Amino acid sequence: MLRLPASVLVLTFFLALVAWGRNQDTKIFSVRVSTKDASERNSIANAGIAIDKVFSDSVAFIGTEIEIDKVKNLGLKYKVNNISTRKLDFPSSDQAFHNYSEMIQALDSIQNKHPDIASRFSIGKSLEGRELAGIRLSRSKKQDSLPTAIFMGCHHSREHLSVEVPLKLAEYLASQYETDVRIRNLLDNREVLIVPMINPDGAEYDITSNDYKYWRKNRRKNVDGTYGVDLNRNYSKGFGGSGSSNSPSSDIFHGPQAFSEPETQAVRDWVRSRKKTTVLLSFHTFSELVLWPFGHTNDQVPSQIDQQVFETMGKKMASWNKYTPQKSSDLYLASGDTTDWAYDELKIFAFTFELSPDSMFTGGFYPGASAIEPTFKANIEPALYLIEKAENPYAVLKEQKDPLQLIP
Ligand SMILES: [Zn+2]
Repeated sequence: MLRLPASVLVLTFFLALVAWGRNQDTKIFSVRVSTKDASERNSIANAGIAIDKVFSDSVAFIGTEIEIDKVKNLGLKYKVNNISTRKLDFPSSDQAFHNYSEMIQALDSIQNKHPDIASRFSIGKSLEGRELAGIRLSRSKKQDSLPTAIFMGCHHSREHLSVEVPLKLAEYLASQYETDVRIRNLLDNREVLIVPMINPDGAEYDITSNDYKYWRKNRRKNVDGTYGVDLNRNYSKGFGGSGSSNSPSSDIFHGPQAFSEPETQAVRDWVRSRKKTTVLLSFHTFSELVLWPFGHTNDQVPSQIDQQVFETMGKKMASWNKYTPQKSSDLYLASGDTTDWAYDELKIFAFTFELSPDSMFTGGFYPGASAIEPTFKANIEPALYLIEKAENPYAVLKEQKDPLQLIP
């Protein structure tokens, strides 16, 4: 699971104090905590902490003094280390990243350049009223007439790279249609639906000052005066379970009830309405992982055949992007996410990719603009594979010599 050199692992437990403020007077820390196994990892998640990286002997996360107190209370060893006080600025040093209005312009531009195959759509509005915009790519004008693949980005505000990858995917598919036989064949026979920014309010908030705010949730004002619901804990399957928190100040606050937020309601109603959807990919950052359901329980999905499809597709995609493929709960339990709901309710083969970088020590949530192109390139083939297999995901089992001996 881990690709860190042993020398680094020996230096476990360091925590980085980061001088960025989430709110003006809230200090943000990077924390490394010693953990023996999944049960200790789960105890951290169950304390309301959003784990960002799992190592073989520890986990790391970004949090405040509140989260550090929680770790103390669990009696686990942890360490602090000052990694950087560098100030980051989205518009200047990271100007290649798209803020909300630039993302909208980019979608418009794709539609304007390729009107025969590209059309913009909206799945609803965010809490603060921003259009949740997407782009549909297909030669067919008739909605729901072809097998459909859905791609989403940015459930979590600070994961800006997860906007860029689906946006670039849209640009790539549209621009290659005329010249690339494979792409043309795919868009002639599939619908590809891409919504790059599910959480625009949070993404905008994260870049409202010269410093990134490490903001994860949406911008709901909670009853106790704190802000934000974790949109990837707000779906219904396993809602409120392990790896989510009922404390509004927690980074993994699941909200007052399932689908309490306009952003997740919009995703729910939209995905439900697109009856030909068979595959879905939700981009997140970071850690370089390919994840599949379930996340809310250690149990496998009830259908052994479906479990094999997940594993086969997940491992195949990981063979291209070189990420680590695994069932989500093998990492730690996380309840109420997009993929558990999409599979459970709609039997969609739904995956989460945790994109680059590998860890917070190689850029974490803010890897810089130079990460965009290589991260996108690494994920072209997995995306094309998903679109291709949208016609019948079960066919991936027949492509193996022995369906019960899964390709490693
Ligand atoms: Zn995320």
